[in-house]
Amino acid sequence: MERVREILYELVREMGINETVKLRVVPMKQKVASLSFKTKVLRLNKKAVKVLSRNELRYIIVHELIHLKIKDTNHGSLFLREMEKYYSFEKAYNFEIELIRKLL
Ligand SMILES: [Zn+2]
Repeated sequence: MERVREILYELVREMGINETVKLRVVPMKQKVASLSFKTKVLRLNKKAVKVLSRNELRYIIVHELIHLKIKDTNHGSLFLREMEKYYSFEKAYNFEIELIRKLL
C-alpha cells in the first residue's frame, strides 16, 4: 500500500498534475483501476496491488493519471500521444498482456 502511494505521488509530480489525488485500494470485480474526475480518488484493485510488480503498478497509475491530465475517459489519439511520453506502444502492449495474464 505504501509503495503504491509512493509511486502515485512521484508520478503526480513527474506528470505535472496540479491536483491532489487520493488513493484507495479496494476489491474490484471488473476493473484493475478507476479514477474519478470529480473526487480525484484513484481506486486500485486490491488483487492487482497484491500480485503485480512495481513496474506494472506504475504503468496502471500512469494510465489513470493520463485520463485525469487530458480530462478524457477515452483512449483516442490524445490519450495515446500522452502515453507515448512514458511508454512506447510496444511496451504498453506488453504490460496489457501481462496484466490480463496475471489478473484473469
Ligand atoms: Zn483507461
